[in-house]
Amino acid sequence: MAAGTEGYELPEELKMAQRTVRDFVQAEVVPLEKTLDYDAIALPKEDFDRLASKTREMGLWCTGVPQEHGGAGLSLFAQAVLEEEVVQHRAGLYCPVYGTMGRPPPEIIWVGTDYQLQTYGLPSVRGERRGWYAITEPSGGSDPARAIQTRGVRDGDDWVLNGSKIFISGAPWGDWGIVFARTDPQRARGLTAFIVENRWPGFTMNPIPVMRAFYPGQLFFDNLRVPGRNVLGEVHNAWDLLANKLLARARIPYAAANLGVAVAAHRMAVEYSKTRQTFGAPLSSRQAIQWMLVDSEIEIRASRWLVWQAAWRYDAGEDFRQEAAIAKLYSSEALGRVVDRSIQIHGGYGVSKWLPLERWYREARIRRIGEGPSEVVRMVIAREILNPASRHD
Ligand SMILES: Cc1cc2nc3c(=O)[nH]c(=O)nc-3n(C[C@H](O)[C@H](O)[C@H](O)COP(=O)(O)OP(=O)(O)OC[C@H]3O[C@@H](n4cnc5c(N)ncnc54)[C@H](O)[C@@H]3O)c2cc1C
Repeated sequence: MAAGTEGYELPEELKMAQRTVRDFVQAEVVPLEKTLDYDAIALPKEDFDRLASKTREMGLWCTGVPQEHGGAGLSLFAQAVLEEEVVQHRAGLYCPVYGTMGRPPPEIIWVGTDYQLQTYGLPSVRGERRGWYAITEPSGGSDPARAIQTRGVRDGDDWVLNGSKIFISGAPWGDWGIVFARTDPQRARGLTAFIVENRWPGFTMNPIPVMRAFYPGQLFFDNLRVPGRNVLGEVHNAWDLLANKLLARARIPYAAANLGVAVAAHRMAVEYSKTRQTFGAPLSSRQAIQWMLVDSEIEIRASRWLVWQAAWRYDAGEDFRQEAAIAKLYSSEALGRVVDRSIQIHGGYGVSKWLPLERWYREARIRRIGEGPSEVVRMVIAREILNPASRHD
């Protein structure tokens, strides 16, 4: 390889996996999806089983889960490359391939004990259980160190939880989750992570209708008794789990998903502009339309490099937090603009339920709030610009 070009080409093996996932989505998921409701979040059982057994055979089941836990054990970089493909269908942003490539549990379960892995982690990889995680409370989500008021109090070998969590994705369809609660009221970061089950006495949930069909839930803990063996990680020391191992890391695949949907929306705009005629010529011949396409193209390419850079740093064991924040921020804002332009180019059809654009438009709006709202992510980036010494390089 010529000096200075390392890293510009994807490895051949990864390109093959990328093509395999692309073909699977376009050949299996997109046509099937046309038969479903425009806001569908699940496949009929027989279709799910058929596609899930295909992806298992292809080695595409839970690609990010370590091999020793039943996944494909891909690097975060490889996961990001595949995530860009997986989401390229109508439900893809929040229900990628409708779970037919597995629904991995929250990543931090892998720091757990053997009991926790056997009871929660591995059954979730096998598709028998579904997990969620809960940080945000009615008192706020941007600043969890101060806002978390759910209390965990030790009672013999158990802990007793009281409080509420809000906007919890996956909880209405899951059966267990990781709840961050305050156990040391003297310290802002005196938090502990507890694994709880939806069916336990003292746990209740209300659905929260939002602008996406995959709605979150509000959880209530009323003297919810949690056995000591369900403490995940160290008592009072869950901050690193929450901030770095869960949130900062998750921003990278999250950003890759933003990128993938932007790619799909842009592709539709390019194709449509070439066939739609107005005033005697295709839309693509108009400079006003070309400039929209150019802006989307550039924002997509920039998003891809930002996602890849964050993933590379993560895999290399370097401080990746600022890069993950930048990738998340830029890709989520770019996604909104790209989908908006594609709708504009499609005219009335853009806002119809016949096309996936209107669903992406609604769902893209949430991306500037979930996994750290834009303002908070900008604060993270500003902190490191102003104080580079805070980096752990
Ligand atoms: C559909 C959906 C799914 C979600 N899924 C989950 C989940 O699975 N688990 C989970 O724990 N949470 C989840 N969340 C919660 C999400 O992480 C929070 O909504 C988010 O962190 C913001 O918290 P908040 O809504 O309480 O807003 P607040 O913290 O009250 O902030 C309100 C607004 O003020 C801005 N702001 C805050 N502080 C500052 C500042 N210092 N300067 C300038 N602006 C500021 C914020 O950016 C935001 O725009 C989900 C949210 C939604 C909408």
